[in-house]
Order: sequence, then C-alpha cells, then structure tokens
Amino acid sequence: MPETDYAKLGLKCGIEIHQQLDTKKLFCSCPSQIRDDTPHSTITRKLRAVAGELGDVDPAALHELLKDREFTYEFYQDTNCLVELDDEPPHPLNMDALEAVLEAALLLKAKPADEVQVMRKTVIDGSNTSGFQRTMLVATDGHVESNGKRIGIPTICLEEDAARIIKKEGNKTWYRLDRLGIPLVEIGTDPDISSPQEAKEVAEKIGMLLRATGKVKRGLGTIRQDVNVSIRSGERIEIKGVQTLNDIPGLVENEVKRQQGLVEMRDELKKRGFSEFAPGIIDATPLFKSSESKIVKGKKVFGMRVPRFARLMKKELMTNYRFGTELAGIAKEVAGLNGIFHSDELPAYGITEDDVKNVKNLLKLEKDDAFVLVAADELNGKRALSEIAKRCNTAAKGVPKEVRRADGVITRFMRPLPGSARMYPETDEPLVRITKGMLAAIKLPPTPEERKKEFEGMGLGSELANQIVKSRVMGEFISLSKEFRSVKPSVIASALLAAPEGLDISPALSLVDSNKVAKESLDVLIEGMKGGKKAEDVAKEKGLFMMGEAELKKRIASIVSANKGANTGQIMGKAMAELRGKADAQAVKNLIEEALR
Ligand SMILES: [Zn+2]
Repeated sequence: MPETDYAKLGLKCGIEIHQQLDTKKLFCSCPSQIRDDTPHSTITRKLRAVAGELGDVDPAALHELLKDREFTYEFYQDTNCLVELDDEPPHPLNMDALEAVLEAALLLKAKPADEVQVMRKTVIDGSNTSGFQRTMLVATDGHVESNGKRIGIPTICLEEDAARIIKKEGNKTWYRLDRLGIPLVEIGTDPDISSPQEAKEVAEKIGMLLRATGKVKRGLGTIRQDVNVSIRSGERIEIKGVQTLNDIPGLVENEVKRQQGLVEMRDELKKRGFSEFAPGIIDATPLFKSSESKIVKGKKVFGMRVPRFARLMKKELMTNYRFGTELAGIAKEVAGLNGIFHSDELPAYGITEDDVKNVKNLLKLEKDDAFVLVAADELNGKRALSEIAKRCNTAAKGVPKEVRRADGVITRFMRPLPGSARMYPETDEPLVRITKGMLAAIKLPPTPEERKKEFEGMGLGSELANQIVKSRVMGEFISLSKEFRSVKPSVIASALLAAPEGLDISPALSLVDSNKVAKESLDVLIEGMKGGKKAEDVAKEKGLFMMGEAELKKRIASIVSANKGANTGQIMGKAMAELRGKADAQAVKNLIEEALR
C-alpha cells in the first residue's frame, strides 16, 4: 500500500490529556481512592434536566434524554461524603490540587490566570450526581516541544473526575462514587500535530512532564488521552478512551481512512442520485414464520429499505470495520440490540436466498437499494431503524461530527459531538486568587531533558537514559543509585527496566553491592524473586554466591599449574570460563599474576 500523504490530506490532530492528581478530592477531604471491595450503600436517581441549563436544543443532550435513563450510585461510608452524593455544597477548593496544576502549567510554559473561577459544565450521562462537572481554567498559552516542533497548549484546566461506570443494563446505569471528585489536570493541545506518530510523541511528552512533578497518580486508569482528528474534506472527530499510547498512531491512521471512506461514500451517493428518505419501517415477522435461522426464529423482525445504498453497507471504513458495523453499533447504542442484518451480507446466518427475495419484494426494493433488518421488540426495533435511517441520510453529507470511543485501534460511535459546552459559574465556590507568592513558592523539577543529561553523566548511554526518563521507575532509579554506590547506575537502570512492575529489587542490588553476588548474576537473581522468594534464598539455590578468597586462591593455583607455559591472558581466559559469576574478574587477574610470580 502506498504511504498516506497526511500533509496532502490536511491532517490536523490534537491531544487532550486528563491526568489524576495525587491529592485528596477537589471539593471535599475524602481520599482519592479507587476501591474494589463491596460498596456499603447505593442510591438511585433519575437525571434532572434543568430546563434553563440545557438551554437551546443540544443534539448530545437530546440523544441522552431520549433514552430515559436511571442511575444507581454505589458509595462507601468511610471514603465518600455528602459532597459526592450532592447532598451538601462543595467545600473550598483543594489548594494542593491547584498547586500541582500550577506546577504543570509552569513546566508547559503557560501563563497562570490571575484568579480562578470554578464553573459548572452540564453533564447528562449521569456520571456526576450533581448533573454538572466542576472545572476551572488555571493557565493559558503554553506549549510543548516535540522533535523541535512547537505544539501549542491553549488551556490548562483543573477539574473533578466523574463517577466510575460499573455496568449498564437497558436504560439503567450503575456508577461508583469512589472516582467522583478526584482532581484532574486537563491539558489540550492545538491541532498542530500533523502525523500519527507525532500524536503519540506529543502525548508521551506531556505525560513525562506531568510525572516529573511527582504529584500525579500512577498506574492504570489514572491518565486518559483523547485524540481529535480531522482531514480537509472531513470533520473534527473526538476519540475518547485511548487505552495505551501505542494505540495512538493506529487510531489516527484509521480515523483518516474512515473519513476518506465516508467522503467516497458521499460522492458515490451523489452519483447515484440519492435523496433524503424517511424510515419506512415494515413488520417482516410473517416472512420468517417458518425460518430455521436462530437469529430470527421466534422473534419479531422489522425491515427498512435504504435507497441507493447497495454495496455501500459493506464499504470498509477501518481495518475490519465496515459501514454496516457502524450501523450495528448505533442499534446497540440506542436500542441495546446485538446486531443488524443488511442486504450486502445476506443470505447468511440461516437466512436463505428465498428469504432475501421475499424481503426485497415486501420492502419494494429497486436497483441500487439496500435493506436493513433487526430482530427486536417493536419499540426497540423502530428506535434502532429510525436512528439507522438518520445515519444513512447523514452519509450523503460526508463525515458527521461525533464523539467516538477507541476500541484498540478502531473506533465506535459514542454520541454526537456536543455543542460548545455551556458553562455557568459555581455560586457555591468563591474566586481564588493566584498570587505572586503562590507562584514563587513552586519549586520546579528538572525537565526530562535535564534529567536525561544528569543520567548520562552517571554513565548511562543515551538510549538507556531516555528509557529511564520515560519510564515509571525513574524515581526508584534515583534513590537506588544513591543507596548502592558500588553498583554501576547503568546496571541498576537495566535491572529496573527488566524487572516486573512492583517488584522491589533492592535486596538483589544489596547482594551485588556487598560483592556477595556478581553483577552478571543480577538478572537470574531478580528472575528467581518473581515468585516472592527472598534474594538470599534464590542466590543459595542457584549457586550465585561468589567464592570466598581462600577457595578462589586454591582454584587459581590449580588452573595456573595445569597451564604451565601459558601467558597471563591465556590463563585468564581459562579461569574466567570457569569462574564467571563466581568471582570478580579484576580479583582473578590479580591472583593469576601473583601465582605466576
Ligand atoms: Zn467527600
């Protein structure tokens, strides 16, 4: 396949990062602790649509309201309070969190605001008990550099994390309040990124800067990256829920491909004389009365003609993802259906050629028309087909503005793109001034570049230094290399990078540091500790302890006498072949020289 020319396509990409801060909650003193034990209590609520705050018609709001949702909140008596339940006004802003964001802002060369006003942003998916998320602008006009290119960071915000979704069944959703209110720093870049690889690099760079503050949470789920992608003929698409940085290039590539594919569909529909159609939903149940197909047997079946869509249902938009896959996703999202069946894939699934003919007759299909079938009750069947009709009509216009959810490197429809967020001042929170004194008190950590230089000065190669700076073990590396002075920092760095996450390797380093085990045996030692074994026991079991001085002298004397006439180098070779990992090379050399004298 020819390489995609992203500049020619007008690729514009931006990153938005949400990183949890390692402080207490933003508007109460509850710990920012995610829990997996059974919650103590639950409370069930319906979404309150406050007319004034929903304002004019917002497609995202309508989409959610249509679903008549019910929300159950799980909480813990000892780590949640009335603030998370929205039964008490928020407490004053957590100043530790504000300081952490100011530090990040300074690292990103942004300009702190003079004062901070807490705002309410309407949220309608039930993930906030209050119906809004509290957010505040802390700094503006920063930037980050990636490979010498400057990527703008127009805004840096502090906000509260939403409740954690536990499960969703029909119109009911369960959330847990452990995550609600955890402070987040939100960093959004300008759409200055112009290639899939660069998107990953920028996200990586910002993540490194945030970790350098030492004030952010670590581990799975504590950082979330969203990616915005558009091409010149397409639209700006928000991709949420990126699982790992490694997925970013693939996600951007696929999104470009998807937008190109949708543009091609638009042009093809135009050529075929497509015009907007109303969903003519027909009950096709009688056609399948005697069908043996498991997917329709004993179910109600509804069908709809989709004019001019023949062969477009199977149009590939992403790797292993067709336009029909998109429609199935919509049916699942709005009606909880497990799938749809369209004319480009039938006969299949036990639906026969005769069945297809009968459906075509019933729906009065013409040349170049397609059809969609769903097996569902009447309410959900009609709901799904109406939304599918809407999506097909939109295809004639090209790429619809929407929010998509990452699933590996492909994306699935999530919701329409909300209009620009309406925000209202949080009247329960006073303005917070950012004083010169506050800013002066912030001590900035070395930048990743400065760290890298520092590590290179300790004897790490450029690549190894870079890996440590980017890793989650940088802090450990700094403290271990101070503690174990006689182990080379490069040995410590490699061992840390190779060790499984969470394993404390200091007992192993201690054995090497005190010359009891050779540094060459460190890998084996750490490998043996994986199952929870003590370093000493592993060394004993695997015979990793070095020889005592007397024993070593004896061995060398016998090697020397067995190789009469050989020079120091030759004897050294023989000796090390036998003693590697059991004795220090310099000590062996000294003893050989002594014996030869
Ligand atoms: Zn609380």
